[in-house]
Parts: sequence; C-alpha cells; structure tokens
Amino acid sequence: MQNPAALLRTVFGYDSFRPHQEDIVRHVIAGGDALVIMPTGGGKSICYQIPALARDGTGIVVSPLIALMHDQVSALRQFGVRAAYLNSSLSLDAARHVEADLLAGRLDLLYVAPERLLTARFLDHLARVRPALFAIDEAHCVSQWGHDFRPEYVQLSILHERFPEVPRIALTATADAPTRAEIAQRLALQRARHFVTGFDRPNIRYHVRVAEGNAREQMLRFIGERHAGASGIVYCLSRRKVEEVAAWLVSKGLTALPYHAGLDAATRRAHQRRFLDEEGVIMVATIAFGMGIDKPDVRFVAHLSLPKSLEAYYQETGRAGRDGLPAEAWMRYSLADVILLRQFMDASDANEARKRVERHKLDAMLGYCELTTCRRQALLGYFGDARAEPCGNCDNCLTPPEVWDATEPARMALSCVHRTGQRFGVSDLIDVLLGKDDERMRRFGHDRVSTYGIGRALHEREWRAVFRQLVARGHLHVDHEGHGGLSLTAAARPLLRGEETFTLARQHSPAKLPKAGRARAPADMAHGDALFEALRAKRLELARAQAVPPYMVFHDSVLAAMAALRPQSLEELGGISGVGARKLENYGEAFLVVIRAHTAAPVRTG
Ligand code: ADP
Ligand code: ZN
Repeated sequence: MQNPAALLRTVFGYDSFRPHQEDIVRHVIAGGDALVIMPTGGGKSICYQIPALARDGTGIVVSPLIALMHDQVSALRQFGVRAAYLNSSLSLDAARHVEADLLAGRLDLLYVAPERLLTARFLDHLARVRPALFAIDEAHCVSQWGHDFRPEYVQLSILHERFPEVPRIALTATADAPTRAEIAQRLALQRARHFVTGFDRPNIRYHVRVAEGNAREQMLRFIGERHAGASGIVYCLSRRKVEEVAAWLVSKGLTALPYHAGLDAATRRAHQRRFLDEEGVIMVATIAFGMGIDKPDVRFVAHLSLPKSLEAYYQETGRAGRDGLPAEAWMRYSLADVILLRQFMDASDANEARKRVERHKLDAMLGYCELTTCRRQALLGYFGDARAEPCGNCDNCLTPPEVWDATEPARMALSCVHRTGQRFGVSDLIDVLLGKDDERMRRFGHDRVSTYGIGRALHEREWRAVFRQLVARGHLHVDHEGHGGLSLTAAARPLLRGEETFTLARQHSPAKLPKAGRARAPADMAHGDALFEALRAKRLELARAQAVPPYMVFHDSVLAAMAALRPQSLEELGGISGVGARKLENYGEAFLVVIRAHTAAPVRTG
C-alpha cells in the first residue's frame, strides 16, 4: 500500500495535507467509517480520493449532481487517476463500458448517482468487486430539514447492511449539530468517527451594507474596481430580478448569464458550462445555482438581497475563493428583503415549529448584517467555532462603522431575560421592557419584575436591534427547538457586570463609505504581468484542445507561482504545489517553453 503523503505529492502535486485531511485519510485507509464536516473549499475530495487510491479495489462515490460528477471525473483524469461516472446522462453503451471497467478492476474511482447505485444490477456488481470504500458526498442531502433533501439518500443505509466490511465516509459542508446527528442516524454511521474542522475561510473578505441608493450601480463599481475580468456569482431573490440584472450587466459591457429554475434545462446547462469553461463570466442566479459548482477561481460572490439564513449565506459565499486566493463576499440588503422573506415563510405550508425555526434563522441573518464588530467572529461563533480575535479581513475590521453606546439598553435586555426566567422570546421581552399593560403580562407576573417598563426610552424597533445584536454576538442563545426562548450565555456575564461595553451601528448608515480595504486582492497579484498572461494563454490553448475548463489544467495559483519562480527545468516545475506527476508529463514542457521565452527576453528597466 502506498503512503498517503506520497500519493498526495505524486498524484496531486501538493506538499502537505491540510488540517484534518491526513487523520481522515489514515482512518479510512485503516477501514474506519468517517463523518467529515468541512467548509466548502476545505478539501473534502482528497479525503476519499487518496484512500481510494491507497486501498485495493474501486472507491465508489455517491454524488447527487450530474454536473458535479462530470467535473470531478474530468479533473481526476487530468491528474492521471482512473475515474469514471455512472448516471442517467450516459448512453446505455457508455454505461455498459463503465460497468465492464469496474468489473475488470480498471477503475480507481467511480462516481454514481444514488438512484443508480440502489439498483439491483449495480448492487450485484458491487458484490462481485469488493469496493475500496463508499464515499457519500453532500451527505446533508439525507436530511429532511435541509433544502437539498434527496429521498434516495435515505436508502443508502443499505450499503452498510450489504457491505459491512467496506469503510464509509460521508462528507458535507453543512455544519449544524441537528443535521449532523440526522446524517449519522440515517446513514447508519453511528460508529463513524466525526471530523469537524474549523469553518473559517480566511481568504474571503466580507462586506455588508444596507442598500441605500442604487445597489446595482454600487455592485458594478465594486466589480469594476476590484474584480475586472474575474469570475463571480451574483445572487438575487427572484427570477425576474436575475434576468434584469444579467441583462443590465451585459449592457454595461460585462459577460453575464442568468440562471434560475424557470430556464429550461438545456439553457441552464449551457450557462453553467460557459461559467466553468470560460474566464471572467459572471453568473447572475437565484439559489437554484451553486450546489456542485466546484469552480476554484470564483473571485467574488455578490448578494443583491438577503439570504434566508446564515447557513445559506455561508454556503453561497463559500463558493468564492476555493483555490485559497483572496476573494470577496459582498452584500447589499434592504428591509424590503426582510419583509419579503417573512412573507414567503408565512405563506409556506410548513408547520408552525418549522416556520418558527425559519424566522429565528432570518433574525440571525439580519443580526449578522447589522453587526458593527468583526463579521468573521460572528459567523464562526454561530457555527460553534469561537474566536478570541477579530479577523482584520472584513469591512467592520477594516473600516469600523459609526456607532452609539448601547451598553445600558443591552444590560437592561439581559437583565430582563434573567428576571423572566430565561424562557421568553423577543416580543415578550420587549413588551416587558416597554411596560405593556395587558392580560398576558399579568398572567406571567411580568408586570411585577424589576425590568417592567424600564425601557421606554427606546422604540420597539431599536429594542429589536439590541436583541438581534445580543444574539448575533453570542450573549444570548435562542432555543430553536422550543419557542424561541432566549437564555443568557457565559459571554453575557462581563456585560452584565459592567466590565464590557456594547455598541450598535447608527441606523442611518453613512452615505459615503470610506474606501474599504483597497488592499490589492492578491488574486490579481500577477494580472498584467506579461509572463503570467502568456502562461494563461497557454493554459487556455491546452484546455480548449481537450474541452476542459482552464482551471483543470492548472489553477491560477500554480500559474502565479510559475511566473514568480520561473522554473527552468521539469524538476523545478514539479516542485510547485499543484503540479503532480501526470500534469508535469503532459504540460511541463509546454509551460517551460513559455517561461524560457520570457526569461531570455532582455531585462526591462524601471
Ligand atoms: P470541497 O469539496 O471541500 O469544497 P475540494 O475538495 O474541491 O473542496 O478542494 C478545494 C480545493 O483545494 C481544490 O482545488 C483542491 O485541489 C485544493 N486542495 C485540497 N487539498 C489540498 C492540499 N492538501 N494542498 C493544496 N491544495 C489542496
Ligand atoms: Zn473581521
């Protein structure tokens, strides 16, 4: 058996594992089951690809999306891995061919759609070949609560019943504990080791502002100033808005395409293909777009409206900067979005408990938007990954907003939570603070607590902002499963004891924002550099010849390293991260020619 680090180096060209990858890989190679929770772009694929290469037999990967399988297989073949997929897009002939390869042991990895995997025919094949492992990608699809629920995923527990000796690894970026528990239970992964990595995406910079004036124009300026010529995704709430914004961007000379569930499947596929295969395409989309988009060089994700939860926001923004190079998550939201989302929720036919959870999630989202403190700390805190230090790479860290001292109101709010027994929701608490005089107040004895009526100096709207912020910053915990009751956390103590201050953003946010973080995005560190551009042209030529996206030949980061280091031999070139043995053999010489041509040119002065 080959050693995992050697496989990482020779096949993928990477020098070292990322945090947790090696533990996971070793655990699965040794035959253990694993549940892997890692953020988008964290490097989940390696966690099953290397064990599949190291163990005997074919690794079987269950994947929910045809486009995703296709891309993963193309990318693996670039690395010289023997990979194939089986799904409804293949002709009968082609499918038979793949099956024959599987039975003859000619595959390292086989990606399969869940409904295909569950057929008697395929299960019979598996019984004859003894798979190396089962990887269940996007495992949150098994969760009925999630928005990506796939009924076939529930039946995947059959794998454990039929093949108890084959290790299984389930992977997802969905973080929350209830979903995690549901995955483990439904997939019969009770014995699996859980690997939960930190959720930070340090290369993504967050910007959020209330929309004032023309949000589109502001976005256009943002793209023009910071991401000219780069790929990006723009999320809008409605199909109509998607169409309008895409057409408007095109009228401004950008390459933009619409994507939403109202377009026919062929158009959606064609637009997705162009987004992947070309450089500098902006996809304007509803949330229908995204899952299974593995494009590593998306430089920005812009939201022209409010996502419905922080989970959705984190997943959508996480599509930026998978390659680890700097990327930006930019948002303009309005109160109209909040109202619209509330209406959607109220009108949905979900049960009351479900609607309540959704309302709390929206509140958490809004709380995040209104933050005046580090956004990354709040995001990570929400996902249970508390950080002591502000990040220095979000709008609030880079250009602190105008604030007012809300320490006193915050303490009143916390004390009101305490006095009423830590079980009431925001509306009740505000009624107490405002001293509302009604039967409910009297029934619970709230008119007799010491915080009754002490908050009349603020308006209800302001109290809501105070509570949202106390939740967003982790001083209060919302009981999602119950009725939205608020309770104090340990973080509330210093504030209650008067050891900490609490500030809120001024409601009228300043019209003119200071130019936030104009630091040059290192993504374009090499753009404009003649050698980098020549390398990009070579990459495009090689990609076109094989009909694969340019990033599958080499990522931008690899080209940037070539431009900076100017390797002169295959050996030196092979030392660059991302240049595996097969790519070195296939492309090394072609890129060396480009590099030599530039190195030989007379040195420019200045
Ligand atoms: P995920 O599925 O978790 O979103 P991927 O598996 O697509 O993430 O990996 C994201 C990117 O990180 C890919 O471009 C991959 O090649 C790269 N990557 C993964 N592991 C490593 C590593 N150990 N060193 C360098 N790059 C890596
Ligand atoms: Zn920050």
